[in-house]
Amino acid sequence: MKRADIPWHSETIAVHAGRSIDPSTGAVAEPIRLSTTFERDRDGSFPSGFDYTRSGNPNRAALEEALAILEEGGQAVAFASGMAAASAIFQALAPNDHVIAPIEAYHGVLRLLRDLFARWQLQVEFVDMTDLSAVERALRPTTRLVWTETPSNPTLKLTDLAAVSEVAHRSHALLACDNTWCPLIQRPFALGADLVLHSTTKYFGGHSDVLGGAVVAREESEFFQRVRAVQTVGGAVPAPFDCWLVHRGMQTLPCRMRTHCENAARVAAFLETHPRVTRVHYPGLASHPQHELATRQMKSFGGMLSFELKGDRAAALALPNEMKIFTRATSLGGVESLIEHRQSIEGPETRTPETLLRLSIGLEHPDDLIADLAQALEQ
Ligand code: PLP
Repeated sequence: MKRADIPWHSETIAVHAGRSIDPSTGAVAEPIRLSTTFERDRDGSFPSGFDYTRSGNPNRAALEEALAILEEGGQAVAFASGMAAASAIFQALAPNDHVIAPIEAYHGVLRLLRDLFARWQLQVEFVDMTDLSAVERALRPTTRLVWTETPSNPTLKLTDLAAVSEVAHRSHALLACDNTWCPLIQRPFALGADLVLHSTTKYFGGHSDVLGGAVVAREESEFFQRVRAVQTVGGAVPAPFDCWLVHRGMQTLPCRMRTHCENAARVAAFLETHPRVTRVHYPGLASHPQHELATRQMKSFGGMLSFELKGDRAAALALPNEMKIFTRATSLGGVESLIEHRQSIEGPETRTPETLLRLSIGLEHPDDLIADLAQALEQ
């Protein structure tokens, strides 16, 4: 079923998508189906539609249905991690295909392209995605994919998805958008994307207790069939319990996203006024250089932000030690707020300023989060 055929709001869809009452027991919560194999009928057919769990599993099928509907796409394929999902897209390309990727994005995806897929002879060019003419100049007759991540990690630069999709499609390239930071609040398919990636480890799971990834496609295609083959033939599958956890987390996604966004807006506004802070990166602030694009492209501005401190690297490394509520940890999208000195985790290729701290704003009360930051900044 497609989102367009469902008259409900996202909150209602999130609770019910991919779910039904278990006919054998009446269980309201979805059962976890651990069986790796499924019985054939006497005539050799598989009446349930499942034969072997790598090819298909009821928990994975339910999750994929819900993912496709919630992201307003046509089809979804779930993976064991966000990186496995990204890899599947790159594996669906052919040697010597040209890929345009952003200079700033999640460092793991950039490393994947730079290291692993360079060995596959993918031709990758990194450009400043905020500069449309740079994207246009990078296009070649062999360009098959334009990869975007907006807002970007970690300085929240925006890519104008509608404009870049127009450029990509003029050259018959696919536009992929890593929408991990913005489920529900940014609609890449409505802006022209062909593929959407999620690390479901983040907001979809929502509780920092499961690793997962997904590729959602606008529609069925030969390319997407190759992505699916990486999952089922290549075996990059998530376990049934992991699918169950992500699917369960999704039920509260719309409510959680609302609070993440409200809290982050409050924290960003506080940090912007603090004398020890030189810069706040948050698209919801009027001071963000692409705030106007943000208001066009995003329904709200997300739960992620970063800020730069006065002083040096040592000062930035010291601040997280003073926090009482924020935990010093990587990752994002969970109920708990996290703080991270980003440069020190990104490896030698990092372009992140040494005084930058990244915050994943959780679901605590915003007054408590602000008080925690205020007391740490006073130390
Ligand atoms: N994309 C983005 C924007 C991310 O932040 C991450 C992880 O932090 C990934 C992809 C990779 O996801 P995973 O850690 O689930 O493999």
